[in-house]
Amino acid sequence: MDILRQRILEEGRCLDGGILKVDSFVNHQLDPQLVMQIGEEFERRFAHLNINKIITVEASGIAPALMTGYRMKLPVVFAKKKQPSTMVAGFYQTEVTSFTKHRSYPMIISKEYLKSEENILFIDDFLAHGNAARGIIDICRQAGATIAGMGFMVEKSFQQGGYWLRQRGYLVESLAIIDSLEGNRITLR
Ligand code: 5GP
Repeated sequence: MDILRQRILEEGRCLDGGILKVDSFVNHQLDPQLVMQIGEEFERRFAHLNINKIITVEASGIAPALMTGYRMKLPVVFAKKKQPSTMVAGFYQTEVTSFTKHRSYPMIISKEYLKSEENILFIDDFLAHGNAARGIIDICRQAGATIAGMGFMVEKSFQQGGYWLRQRGYLVESLAIIDSLEGNRITLR
């Protein structure tokens, strides 16, 4: 996706530990036009899969997931990182290690919004080591739901998440793939 690649090259900043900072259009400020195009691209790539629900993780996954849901006319559920007192119907929960924050957090989805017959598309901003994706896999396993595909705005191929997921047969689509952030330089595939 050329427009996304261009924005990454122009506005992305390399941080220590293999992290790309893209606060100007993904993780802090948002560009609705760009996110809408991202939603269209995910729709194009996943339209054939008979998906009936999109799942993401708060907070940065919500924007691309919402636009994808808008395009595909599907509901969007975001996994929460804290248990709200209003979640009374029971919930699925797992523990996820955060790559950027160096700590673990719970990932929670209410039993009301994830059912065994559902065919899920997981959307997130970044794919790094695949910990968030593994959390979603675990929660969908608990619910008995099927994961039909996973879409990421940015995948970092020098971390192992994409390899791990594809090895296990998951359909992974990434709109931009970063092969290296070495030497303060962003190398896109
Ligand atoms: P993973 O769970 O695949 O290890 O990491 C994915 C999650 O960590 C994403 O949801 C994203 O929020 C965050 N993340 C991982 N790598 C980066 C990065 O290079 N830049 C930013 N901004 N977030 C990242």
